[in-house]
Amino acid sequence: MTKPFASTADLAEKQVSFTEVGAGLFAYTAQGDPNSGVIVGDDCCMVIDAQATPAMAEGVIARVREVTDKPIKYVVLSHYHAVRVLGASAYKAQGIIASKGTYELIVERGEQDKASEIGRFPRLFPGAESIPPGLTWPTLTFENEMSVFLGKREVKLLHLGAGHTAGDIVAWVPDAQVMFSGDLVEYHSACYCGDAHLREWPLTLDAIREFEPQALVPGRGDALVGHGTVREAIAMTRDFVNTLYGTAELSVARGRSLKETFAAVREAMDPKFSSFAIYEHCLPFNVSRAYDEASGIDHPVIWTAERDREMWEKLQG
Ligand SMILES: [Zn+2]
Repeated sequence: MTKPFASTADLAEKQVSFTEVGAGLFAYTAQGDPNSGVIVGDDCCMVIDAQATPAMAEGVIARVREVTDKPIKYVVLSHYHAVRVLGASAYKAQGIIASKGTYELIVERGEQDKASEIGRFPRLFPGAESIPPGLTWPTLTFENEMSVFLGKREVKLLHLGAGHTAGDIVAWVPDAQVMFSGDLVEYHSACYCGDAHLREWPLTLDAIREFEPQALVPGRGDALVGHGTVREAIAMTRDFVNTLYGTAELSVARGRSLKETFAAVREAMDPKFSSFAIYEHCLPFNVSRAYDEASGIDHPVIWTAERDREMWEKLQG
């Protein structure tokens, strides 16, 4: 049986939650759809991840206005994916901040990623016509670490290593010991690994765990409050990534084809992860990338709308 392409058959609206995970720190979550975070400082706010369209971002702005009237001065992009960045213009922020790695990925593959993501998951792009022409460009970038002060409140932006993409960053609020992880950590949601660095990802998770966050807002799934829940989500993400890569690596070593590797990965992952959000959508992209990385391709191959469909036919068709 042919499965509908990616998430084109996923049309059910999700319930949005807006929860305080620390003093003046909020998680905008939506049952497995992409999350955003909000940090309220003394004189302004910061939003972590913009959402997919300006229309979607208006939903975040409305929630911010329920808790503060301070201006949204900064938008932070945890990484380059369209569902995270293309809504940025709605905030009219003074600065759009990302890592240098993310900036370079936007230069290299932002255009292809935009077309690819809209094709894969149209429900996430309502009001796509409100996206300004062209791409969302950061106005401030940094290599590994940058502090932004919202009045006296410090937010540390940190590139702790590659994982979900080569340019991932986290936002860390030292006064509350709270972290916003982007897609480096997911909770009861599949990790999208189509652009990932799978051998490095667990090391980046080690670095996140060392902060011992009191609370963590993952890229998808519920906000995580308490050390135990945060550790559980990190372990869950690690297990997902390791099971995927470990199985692919073994398959490549045994000389299996991509299609055979897909079957082997499914056998290893379905029992543990098939109930996770966007699992079936991600699986072929994840196996393709894991197979490539295990075959020695360090730099992820660019996904285009055409390559997406071709690969889907081959593996899920
Ligand atoms: Zn992503």
